Amino acid sequence: MKIPELFRERREADKPVFSLEVFPPKRKKNKESIYHAVEKLKVTDPDFISVTYGAGGNIADNSTCEIAANIKKRYGIETVAHLTCINSTREDVAVMIERFRDANIENVMALRGDIVPGEDIQREFAHANELAIEVQRKCSDDLEILGACYPEGHYESKSLEADIQNLKYKIGAGVRALITQLFFDNSAFYQFIDMARAGGINVPVSAGIMPIVKASQIEKTVQLSGASLPHKFTAMIADYEHDPEGLYEAGIQYAVEQCRDLLEHGVDGVHIYTMNDPTVAVRVWEGIKDLL
Ligand code: FAD
Repeated sequence: MKIPELFRERREADKPVFSLEVFPPKRKKNKESIYHAVEKLKVTDPDFISVTYGAGGNIADNSTCEIAANIKKRYGIETVAHLTCINSTREDVAVMIERFRDANIENVMALRGDIVPGEDIQREFAHANELAIEVQRKCSDDLEILGACYPEGHYESKSLEADIQNLKYKIGAGVRALITQLFFDNSAFYQFIDMARAGGINVPVSAGIMPIVKASQIEKTVQLSGASLPHKFTAMIADYEHDPEGLYEAGIQYAVEQCRDLLEHGVDGVHIYTMNDPTVAVRVWEGIKDLL
């Protein structure tokens, strides 16, 4: 099923979309572990699962396509295959699109990918909107396009306003649903939604939530996402500095409260960054299922 259609159906039924993100296992020998995780995630009855694409944009790696196709085939769960373009040629993109099509994938998330300083990149695509245009050009009938957005602004943008202006290029290029970068402060999300809607961006936006359950996740996550840390969050980290089990429980509770607040505010969807940990994702879902 096409994801924008799913959002439309849910909106008509006055219900939010509930979705999950997984990533391909880093080691080939752990290939099957992703399916063991999905087996456990099934209980949450997600509307779709999105599968990330390796940051390097290496087309020899077919795992995103394979996993997205298998989740759909084996479990009957709709999927979104991510695709980045910063390190791809037009030909690479054409190959990937063809693979998605052959694998019966109906939804793709068009992303630029991060630019790693000092690393060589292809430069045939500068931004996600150019990838979206290419996907549209190649197969607008078969693939729906989703995109990423940033409630606190993308780290390269000089301001949130400028980032939202740029987001319009994606919408103009055929992106019909958005998923946000993770955030810990719902007020940032609400402000972003108000600004995006006022700026004429009317596609559904799912809120990306990452439960933080280990101290080791904090530094990396914050650095990569640029998410600001509200007092409630930093107080939780301080309270459980020497208590990993306490932090685990408090982190799940924090994500549950964040999701409940978003759902009570009528968010279009909630998208859980599972980090391939079904136990945590299922616990969050258990805390919000009455609102789904
Ligand atoms: P863009 O939309 O190109 O934006 C990048 C920057 O350029 C922004 O500052 C924007 O304001 C600006 N900009 C955008 N368009 C234009 C334009 N036309 N002209 C001038 N400036 C412009 N990375 C992966 O490697 N693999 C993944 O699977 C993956 N999945 C993700 C899923 C989600 C939901 C999110 C939020 C991020 C994901 N990322 C992934 C990370 C993403 O690739 C990075 O955040 C990257 O730095 C930006 O990607 P983008 O698609 O938003 O880029």
